[in-house]
Amino acid sequence: MQHDLLIVGSGITGLYAALHAKALGLSVLLISKAKLESGSTFWAQGGLAFPTSPEDIEPHIQDTLKAGRGLCDESTVRLFVEEASQHLEKLLSYGVPFEDHQTLEGGHSHPRVFHAWGDASGRAVSVTLTQVVRDQGIEVLEGAFVQSLLLSDTGRVVGVQTTEGNHVAGAVLLASGGFGQMYPVTTAPEEATGDGIALAYRAGAVLRDMEFVQFHPTVFLAGNRGLLITEAARGEGALLLNGQMERFMHQYDPLQELAPRDVVARAIDAEETKTGRVYLDLRHLGEAFVQQRFPSIYERLKSQGVDISREPVPVSPAVHYTIGGILTDTNGKTTLEGLYAAGEVASSGLHGANRLASNSLPEGLVFGVRAVEAARQDLKFEIPASRTVLETVGSKASVQQVIGAGAGINRTAETIRLALQTLPHPEPRAGSIEELEAGNLARIADTVLRGALEREESRGGHFRTDYPEPDEVRHSLFQIPPLLEPL
Ligand SMILES: Cc1cc2nc3c(=O)[nH]c(=O)nc-3n(C[C@H](O)[C@H](O)[C@H](O)COP(=O)(O)OP(=O)(O)OC[C@H]3O[C@@H](n4cnc5c(N)ncnc54)[C@H](O)[C@@H]3O)c2cc1C
Repeated sequence: MQHDLLIVGSGITGLYAALHAKALGLSVLLISKAKLESGSTFWAQGGLAFPTSPEDIEPHIQDTLKAGRGLCDESTVRLFVEEASQHLEKLLSYGVPFEDHQTLEGGHSHPRVFHAWGDASGRAVSVTLTQVVRDQGIEVLEGAFVQSLLLSDTGRVVGVQTTEGNHVAGAVLLASGGFGQMYPVTTAPEEATGDGIALAYRAGAVLRDMEFVQFHPTVFLAGNRGLLITEAARGEGALLLNGQMERFMHQYDPLQELAPRDVVARAIDAEETKTGRVYLDLRHLGEAFVQQRFPSIYERLKSQGVDISREPVPVSPAVHYTIGGILTDTNGKTTLEGLYAAGEVASSGLHGANRLASNSLPEGLVFGVRAVEAARQDLKFEIPASRTVLETVGSKASVQQVIGAGAGINRTAETIRLALQTLPHPEPRAGSIEELEAGNLARIADTVLRGALEREESRGGHFRTDYPEPDEVRHSLFQIPPLLEPL
């Protein structure tokens, strides 16, 4: 069946965009490889940054630009902050139960992070919007893996191929999230395998700034999945201690525990090397406050044998957020006709070299809606003639090992070159969903490594120990000739 708009992904971006499309009278199909309540959105803790008053618009813009280390597109940042508050109103009208008190987070000069359900803000958004999507009867396809983009013979993206069959539409919006699973330890869920980025790249779209990967500073390591301890904990006063149980952040940044994420993450990494361990200490905040303000984190760590209200928690940096992605304009338009992208999958110019905490959930709202508006002006129905090729790699672990060693929190030409030599090559053949996901990760891991090698400087989410200072302000662009096969 033909739709006006296909939306791939049901995180905050896809759910909210689908509701907007429906309100505009478009016929929309929302596709998720997992259930609707999924993606990083479901796991987000801290909340959503919105300016708290008209006077807070300029400070929010300046904080975002500062975190982005010279690589943000200022007009995109301005538009984002100016439009964000209208979406807060909309979320409230859908029933997201934001609490009255706003939190301070790293890099913010003012407490402007709105949260819900204590420290389960993303879950509150995901569950609430999913219910509204269901109530409004929006057509959904859950558990369907998008494996190819369909193109017409003019090169326009005209649909997707899922494990359930082909779907054609007037436009396609990718809202499929980031690629945290490229790394051996990440806070991002299983779904975060960079599928949308790899699909767009194979279809010939331009990717941007892929080497910028955000490490969250305070993650409790429990196997491959890092258990995040939200930045809001430091916003509420939690302190970092080294292996000698001494505070150290004053040696790294005047903002101390609330310095931007890249600074805190590298400081923790350095103190781990010097003193063996780093801890996050919440004890002085009081047992009752900790349990009431951070209920999910309290329970999750309790199940791992750590009582965060009574003992310092060992923490390490882990991969958290995909800063680069599919190049888009401020209307979510990619470099391919018919293809739009918004949310973590996209490189819209908002984050520059480093994302400001809690700007990414609102990013999905602002740019998801803008993409729907632009797509509506550009619906064209053409016949699919080809699809992007299927590519597989035997195991995700083989990619994770190489990337973890080659493009981690500290990089050098030597580690990156070795990784480029040992990265598995995706093979052009069909396979299981896990093998296709690994193929997607391998296809774009190459861009992370090449970007990291060519960027002989350090900036935001890219740190080269052999070039520790910032140098030229420039973006990295990646494009290959389309990898297509006839239908
Ligand atoms: C633990 C954690 C905590 C965070 N905390 C915060 C926070 O407090 N504030 C903040 O602003 N940001 C936070 N972030 C970042 C933020 O959650 C994400 O950037 C944001 O949720 C991304 O939303 P999205 O809609 O773009 O993608 P996601 O929420 O990741 O959704 C992606 C969707 O795409 C679907 N999908 C992917 N590939 C395919 C495919 N091939 N076929 C079909 N469907 C597919 C998935 O099933 C999923 O539904 C956090 C991230 C993590 C991991």
